[in-house]
Amino acid sequence: GQDAPLLQVQGVRKAYGGLEAVSGVDLGLIEGRITGLIGPNGAGKTTLLNVISGVERATAGRIQFLGDEIGSLPQHRLAARGLVRTFQISRELGQLTVLENLLLARASQTGEGLISVFARPGRIRREEEAAIEVARSALQRVNMWRLADEPAANLSGGQKKLLELSRALMLKPRLILLDEPAAGVAPAMEEVLVATIRRLAGEGVNFLIVEHDLDVVAALCDHVYVMAAGKVLTEGPFAEVVSDARVVEAYLGLK
Ligand code: ATP
Repeated sequence: GQDAPLLQVQGVRKAYGGLEAVSGVDLGLIEGRITGLIGPNGAGKTTLLNVISGVERATAGRIQFLGDEIGSLPQHRLAARGLVRTFQISRELGQLTVLENLLLARASQTGEGLISVFARPGRIRREEEAAIEVARSALQRVNMWRLADEPAANLSGGQKKLLELSRALMLKPRLILLDEPAAGVAPAMEEVLVATIRRLAGEGVNFLIVEHDLDVVAALCDHVYVMAAGKVLTEGPFAEVVSDARVVEAYLGLK
């Protein structure tokens, strides 16, 4: 319904053999808020992102997106509903241009244009003009259109992160699960990334962000969940959660 929370995670567990990476997590994401997910190494943050985005199946628990049960849907079905996870640009994708990366992100969802992206690089057919328009708009939204023809491998760390974001924008996302936007990004570009994510949030894109750099989390997130050892320790505004003694202890104890 209309008042359903954007994303509701209830009692989610994910076990790998005897090891439980996520041990009963509840989250409630509210529309219009940038939510952060922090915690020490091995806390289970990436695993939780994988489970929410359909990359992996939860061992137990419920996940609802806009009021619908989504726990059993694969990644491409979730993306079609507007729930998209970003991925680092792999070495293979680095050989494609920025524009080709975006066309591929869309083709892998829709099946359109996939063959010609690879069979005839550099020669764009008329049928792809619509896809290119979507890509142009996605790149303009992150101020990367001027780099459309650049091989992705040539981009700086920060530009690669903007490319990851624009790949997600190809799928008309309602919620982007963002994995470490500041990792490998030069300090000057951090501000650009923060400003870009904030601007997109203002345009109606919601974010759940896993990030180790707490300055970036402080600058970006309206609400923060803290995980440790597979569980949520606490949640709240950044300033509140980082002064929580249990959070301080989790960071000091496990790092
Ligand atoms: P970091 O901040 O270091 O990325 P994280 O909070 O994202 O850590 P996860 O990567 O989710 O933590 O890992 C949580 C636990 O689950 C770790 O003990 C990890 O070794 C384990 N784990 C994650 N993925 C797998 C897997 N595919 N198979 C087995 N164990 C896994």
